Amino acid sequence: METMTLPKRTLLSTALLSTTLCSAAMAVNANAAEANPNDLLNATLWMQNSVEYKANVQGMFQLATMRAEAGLHDKNWSALPAMQPEGFGQLPPAIIVDCDETMLDNNVYEAYLIKSGKGYSSKTWSQYVQDKVTGAMPGAVEFANYAQKKGITIFYVTNRKKENEQATLENMKALGFPMTGAKDVLLTKGEKPDWTSNKTTRDQFVAAHYRVILMLGDNLGDFTDASGTPKERLATYKANQAHWGKDWIMMPNPEYGSFESAAFGGNWSLSTEQRRAEKISALKAWQPKS
Ligand SMILES: [Mg+2]
Repeated sequence: METMTLPKRTLLSTALLSTTLCSAAMAVNANAAEANPNDLLNATLWMQNSVEYKANVQGMFQLATMRAEAGLHDKNWSALPAMQPEGFGQLPPAIIVDCDETMLDNNVYEAYLIKSGKGYSSKTWSQYVQDKVTGAMPGAVEFANYAQKKGITIFYVTNRKKENEQATLENMKALGFPMTGAKDVLLTKGEKPDWTSNKTTRDQFVAAHYRVILMLGDNLGDFTDASGTPKERLATYKANQAHWGKDWIMMPNPEYGSFESAAFGGNWSLSTEQRRAEKISALKAWQPKS
């Protein structure tokens, strides 16, 4: 419409319009400059807004329910056989789950990182946790309630810190997770001196008294402390083929995790650009012939 009326305008108004258009173009460029490329964008858009992600996660909880049912009735079944004591078949059943991006959905925090142009920090993360606005993953509350109905105790082995345990507990109760018993089932990092970010000690704590029928996580470290380089991770993945989809259930998480840090040797002191360059160089690419 503006373009069609242009010839009728006086020289002065045309000049004014050009100035306005020019300013508008500059503003667009300024906005584009502000919107730095962020590796989180597509992952967060997918996890927060797509039905594909929701359907995928819900499918994983359906699988988990079927596998829990099978594991419940087979007293020889354990997701952590090497950690169980003799006669573990007599122990009460339990499931070990991770919290973040397994049972809990933190996509509003990830979206905050994108919109603010900031990187993850334990300070903003703790502020976010204390706000108690974390959501539940699709199907997670239903799965937790199913387990409770079946007499299966779910232990939440999370790397949220001890200082954030109370806020997390209140948040989870408000979401409908059945965490009302007297027993502490939310096992946070630092709650005991040997409960570090490696989860094995907490898994052992559970496996000593319960038959662990399932493990659920979104990161290799939720299942085993063996992580390391991409090559070592691949070897660990292959060595545990019998577990995947049977008694170890992995949720998708393209936002963050050891898959990312392994690409730059876990060296978080590198700049964002350096880390990005390492990630790009980790990719195997097809090359056109001409
Ligand atoms: Mg997680």
